[in-house]
Amino acid sequence: MFVLRCMECGKEYHRRAMIYQCPDCSGLLEVVFDLSEVELTREELKKRPFNLWRYRELMPVEEGTRVVSLSEGGTPLYSAKALAEELGLRELYVKNEGANPTGSFKDRGMTVGVTKALELGASAVGCASTGNTSASLAAYAARAGIRCLVLLPAGKIAIGKLAQALLHGAQVVGIRANFDVALRLVRELCTKHNIYLLNSINPWRLEGQKSEAFEIADQLGFSSPDRVVVPVGNCGNISAIWKGFKEFHQLGLVDELPSMVGVQAEGASPLVKAFRAGKSRVEPEREPETIATAIRIGAPVNAPKALRALRESGGIAESVTDEEIIEAQKLLARKLGIGVEPASAASVAGLKKLLEYGEIDRDERVVCVTTGHALKDPEIIFSRYEKPVEIEPTMEALERVVMG
Ligand SMILES: *Cc1c(COP(=O)(O)O)cnc(C)c1O
Ligand SMILES: [Zn+2]
Repeated sequence: MFVLRCMECGKEYHRRAMIYQCPDCSGLLEVVFDLSEVELTREELKKRPFNLWRYRELMPVEEGTRVVSLSEGGTPLYSAKALAEELGLRELYVKNEGANPTGSFKDRGMTVGVTKALELGASAVGCASTGNTSASLAAYAARAGIRCLVLLPAGKIAIGKLAQALLHGAQVVGIRANFDVALRLVRELCTKHNIYLLNSINPWRLEGQKSEAFEIADQLGFSSPDRVVVPVGNCGNISAIWKGFKEFHQLGLVDELPSMVGVQAEGASPLVKAFRAGKSRVEPEREPETIATAIRIGAPVNAPKALRALRESGGIAESVTDEEIIEAQKLLARKLGIGVEPASAASVAGLKKLLEYGEIDRDERVVCVTTGHALKDPEIIFSRYEKPVEIEPTMEALERVVMG
C-alpha cells in the first residue's frame, strides 16, 4: 500500500486525506509505497501492453477503482544516431512525450490525478497552466464526465494548447498576469470552493509521471542510461522521473541509477541559480521570460524535490538561450524527424552545451526527454523559420523557385 509523507517533517498522512501540502509545516507531500509488498519481475512486465498501466502495481490507485485513461504512455524511445554524430556523442536516445494522447507528458499525470479526483469524490477539477496542463486536464475531465476550470496567463499560451482546452469543454479564464500569479489564485479558489486542484503540487500527478522512468528503463532492456536530460519549469517532471528510477532500482528491476540533468530557459532559471549556489530553496523570479512558454515559470513549486533529485543523482542544472532552444528544435526536426515544441528542445540544447563544456562525457549513454508536440505551438514555426513561397501558376515561375 501507500501513504502520503511530508518531505520536510516526515509526518505521514492517510492516502485518502484531501491535502496538497503538509497541514503541519506546508512541506511538499510525496507518495510512499511499501515496496516490500510489490512483486514485479521483468518477465511479468514484458507480457503486458506497453503503456502507463503496465506498471499498475506502482500506481497509487485503490482496488476496484475506475481508471480514467486515454491509453497514455507507451511513447517511443527513438535512437538518435544522426543527432549523436552531430553532437559527437556515443549513444543518444529521445523519449518523445509528444506522442501522448494530448501531445505532452502531462497525460501521465492526469490519468492518475483525475482517477484520484473521482476516488476522492470530486465533481470538479481545476488548474493554472502554461498550456499543456490545461489541455490534458480538459481532456481527462471530459473522459471522467466532471467539470473543469483552467486559469491561464492571458496572451501567453501557445495557440494549440488553448485550442485543446476549449475543444474539450473546459471553462477557460485568462488572467492578466503570469503563471505564478494564476497558480496562487486557483489554489485559493480550489480550497474555498471544494474544487480538486490538479497542478503538479498535487502529489498523485507525479506518480503518473514517474512512469517515464519505468518506460525508459524498460525500453533499454531493464537498464538505466548514464544521464536523463529533462526540460524544467515547475520542477515536477524531473522529480517524478527520478522517483521512478529509484523505485525500479529498489525493486531490482535496474542495477544502476542515472544522473539527472535539468535544463531551464535563461530567462526563467531559478532552479539553475539555486543549484549553482548550493541552496535548498529557490529565489523566485518575478518576470520570467522565454519563447518556451511551457517552462516560463519564475516560482517553481516543486523546486525542493528537484534540488533533492539533482543532489541525490549527482546531477546538473543548466540554462539555455531562446536561440539555442530554436537551434535544438531544428536539429530534432531535421536530423531525426521529431517535431517538438520549444520547451522540449531545451533538453537537447542543454545536452549540446554540457558536452561542449565537458560536463557530460562523449562516451556516455544519454536520454533526452522531449516533453511536448510541435503542433502545440505552430506560431513559433511561422515566426522563426523559413516562410513558404507563393508563385504564379507557370512552369517558368516554378522552375525559377525550385531550380534556383
Ligand atoms: C509542463 C511542461 C514542462 C515542464 O515540466 P515541469 O514538471 O513543470 O518542470 C516542460 N515541457 C513541456 C512541454 C511541458 O508541458
Ligand atoms: Zn510537514
